Amino acid sequence: MCGIVAYLGKKAAQPILIEGLKRLEYRGYDSAGVGLIQGGDIKIIKSSGRISVLEEMLDEPNSGDVLGIGHTRWATHGEPNTANAHPHLDYTGKIAVVHNGIIENYNTLKTWLISKDCKFKSDTDTEVIANLIGYLYSNTEGKDSPSDGQNRFEWAVQHALNELVGTYGLAVVCADFPDMLIGAKKGSPLILGLGDNEFVIASDASAIVEHTTQAIYLADNEMVTASSKGFHTKTIDNIEIHKELKQIEFSLDAIELNGFSHYMLKEICEQPKALKMCLGGRLDLRDGRIVLGGIGKYWREITRAKRVVINACGTAWHAGLIGEFLLEQLARINTETEYASEFRYRNPVIEDGTIVIAVSQSGETADTLAAIEQARERGATVLGIVNVVGSSIARSTDAGVYLRVGPEIGVASTKAFTAQVAVLAMLAIELGRRRHLSNESARFYIEELSKIPEKIEKVLAQSEDIKKIAEATCQRENWLFLGRGFNYPVALEGALKLKEISYIHAEGLPAAEMKHGPIALITDGMPAVFIATRCSQYEKIIGNIEEVRARGGKTIVVASEGDEDIKKYADHLITVPQVPEELQPMLTVIPLQILAYHAAVLRGHDVDKPRNLAKSVTVE
Ligand code: GLU
Repeated sequence: MCGIVAYLGKKAAQPILIEGLKRLEYRGYDSAGVGLIQGGDIKIIKSSGRISVLEEMLDEPNSGDVLGIGHTRWATHGEPNTANAHPHLDYTGKIAVVHNGIIENYNTLKTWLISKDCKFKSDTDTEVIANLIGYLYSNTEGKDSPSDGQNRFEWAVQHALNELVGTYGLAVVCADFPDMLIGAKKGSPLILGLGDNEFVIASDASAIVEHTTQAIYLADNEMVTASSKGFHTKTIDNIEIHKELKQIEFSLDAIELNGFSHYMLKEICEQPKALKMCLGGRLDLRDGRIVLGGIGKYWREITRAKRVVINACGTAWHAGLIGEFLLEQLARINTETEYASEFRYRNPVIEDGTIVIAVSQSGETADTLAAIEQARERGATVLGIVNVVGSSIARSTDAGVYLRVGPEIGVASTKAFTAQVAVLAMLAIELGRRRHLSNESARFYIEELSKIPEKIEKVLAQSEDIKKIAEATCQRENWLFLGRGFNYPVALEGALKLKEISYIHAEGLPAAEMKHGPIALITDGMPAVFIATRCSQYEKIIGNIEEVRARGGKTIVVASEGDEDIKKYADHLITVPQVPEELQPMLTVIPLQILAYHAAVLRGHDVDKPRNLAKSVTVE
């Protein structure tokens, strides 16, 4: 959450920061600001609201201002007003900081700093970082003064970092050092892009790729100092380290709208291509097996495992739940899906033979990262299913499988969800094949999986019809989403999509649970979305549809192509191609994504920047 961008080079920093912030805006957008080093001073321009508001406040860029920091905020501490927007200037006016994360001991530090006469102007936790650095910078007496070759600014940052409890991705500048930019990371992502005599620090590669594809990814408790002489990296304990240069893999094209009105719509429509990339080279149709290079060395251990625990949050949790059903059904292995935020604070039983799988689009989800740590401490082997290459989860797991769907910018996850399910399906089929599934069955599922991308195309072709359904229903404030078996998590995901972007209250439920309470909610005309494809529980869900209709509910039914019988139960009908029920979620979720998208647009909401939400939840 929140986007940081910082620039040091030969060009005017301001336009580069604004362009970077626009690319990062999906990470947070309640307020924004930039800080520029200008003739021995720091000029801060910040405001509540979007980057566009900030842009209007800016003067023409000055070509001499070649060092600056920028931030687009997702507030954790203090309301999203101008005073709380970043950058935060310290009480001396010399140090400016942009921060992603939460400083947990900020109250203690603030009390101490106030006792030292430091003045605070905001309610944020971040301001203590600025003031602490500022205090150390101006009061070195009595401390181990900076050693040779190490300037006071860098020393102050490093010492301040050692006092912080919590998480941070930071960029810091000092008015006295117009040629120096410092970045640091713990728990929130931070990348340093290395251009031609220029440096760009950012929370993710989207703000860097325009300038360079060479980057280093900071690990936790590391900091980087860049200047016109070059850069060096060290731990916050002052130990110099060498970081490997990495190539940023994605192209600018992948993060452009390319004619679509929203990233979410673009990413919904991209799903056939995205799944092809995800499945590409991994389905061995000839030998009837699945090749997942990232976990190749771990198959022996996975095959012998007694239990799988999937950890995830939000949409990834829904994918995880489908994964649980797939692993049970196809690989006959005991599997549970956990909310990472709960798992991390419990006292979970991790016995020998437990494999933990972390699922996260960004690979930076704070709770999932902490859950992994918890699992590793207890001796589990941890696998990751993530999209962002080189992300924290990718690096902190024993092995993993990348989604390979390209950057997902829309805050409401779509293509990452279908790819997460695809990866879990591949894992389940291959594990099944290695445990008990017949070769014929494995081959059957692999073939069916290979056909999913083209079948998604057929669902996407109904977008206009689905829009009409949205037009007829989107004024209703309460919805139900109901499914059974493999489509029960899809019902949860459909409800979440609607909530996230159209702010309609929606509940997703296993359809049979309805009569244990939620049926009381049904009023005349209330939309109830049923996923009622041909599957082992088909008759049962027809019964549930009847129950809703008998009470005046309006049914929107997602059914299998060619199912004539179901028409009489549906006020609105959407069809998906036939596919084995284990693989249906990758198709049945598509109309629900489209429905949520159109409902949100019709209600006049900014689909890519939904209220209160941000992509990549890097705070707990
Ligand atoms: N905790 C900081 C704040 O509330 C940073 C939040 C963020 O990551 O955007 O300002």
